[in-house]
Amino acid sequence: KIMGALKSFNSNPAFPAKDDALPAVCETELPAAIRNGEIIAFYQPKVDIRTGMLKGVEALARWMHPTNGMVPPDRFIPLAEQCGLIHELTLSMLTQAMAQAALWNERGLPLKVAVNLSPLSLDIPGFVQKIVDLLAQHALQADQMVLEITEGSVVANLGTALGTLARLRLKGFGLSIDDYGTGFSSMQQLARIPFTELKIDRSFVHGAHARQNLRVILQSALDMAKRLELVTVAEGIETIEDWRLLQESGCTIGQGYLIARPMPANDLPVWLKGHHRR
Ligand code: C2E
Ligand code: CA
Ligand code: CA
Ligand code: CA
Repeated sequence: KIMGALKSFNSNPAFPAKDDALPAVCETELPAAIRNGEIIAFYQPKVDIRTGMLKGVEALARWMHPTNGMVPPDRFIPLAEQCGLIHELTLSMLTQAMAQAALWNERGLPLKVAVNLSPLSLDIPGFVQKIVDLLAQHALQADQMVLEITEGSVVANLGTALGTLARLRLKGFGLSIDDYGTGFSSMQQLARIPFTELKIDRSFVHGAHARQNLRVILQSALDMAKRLELVTVAEGIETIEDWRLLQESGCTIGQGYLIARPMPANDLPVWLKGHHRR
């Protein structure tokens, strides 16, 4: 597994392949990056798919590497997990996202802010208390925050994960099941975890208008989610056809490059102005 992570890290042309890359990255570079604020949150809009109104954002991690440029999360999240640094990284992302949410609140833009959780975080003792403390420090209500957990990732340690998710839900946090349709335990998890939101994986979203079988799965997922009273989010909306189909299918929230790419927090007001004008 570590070799896999190492391989994908080294396959990034931005990084020279070195046999000792993993220890170096784990022991110095990645922890330093987290502590020095090189890992920053970009935000991608989540809009009401009927009206186009901005409803929330998803925080997505970017490593602003001083020499290698912007490194995408697929390159370093798995590494952080392997190196035992994911907890620190998650807390950094939660802190940034909460500080930003508080700032937007002050400016009269109350947005739901979603943060991705690694399944490993769900096993950490004291994790719930830590998030609750962070929330209090930023004077936020839990229902302004959404925690996205990838479908299928919960299975490893089902008992602990269920307990953690249930406690987070009891505290009032929104819980989103991410990448829905790509895991294997969907039904079981949906029945046992008090999710508030279901995010349809983009493999079912982009291109579904041209493929009958994708459409059937998409529609049944949306119908099920509605009956479970979950907010439905379609990710990966890239074309106007994707948008129309999801709108017609009764999905509530849309996210994707057609609407906006993930952006630094400071760019959001500018995007919003242009978005309103359309
Ligand atoms: P995800 O949670 O499924 O996030 C959605 C990904 O799809 C993002 O990639 C986003 O930039 C991309 N995306 C959005 N709209 C479109 C579209 O219309 N078309 C296409 N092709 N892609 C679109 P990104 O930012 O590279 O993140 C990749 C994955 O890395 C995320 O997938 C998530 O699993 C993980 N990740 C990102 N930030 C964090 C984090 O802070 N913590 C953890 N644990 N994982 C993170
Ligand atoms: Ca996500
Ligand atoms: Ca997703
Ligand atoms: Ca994903």
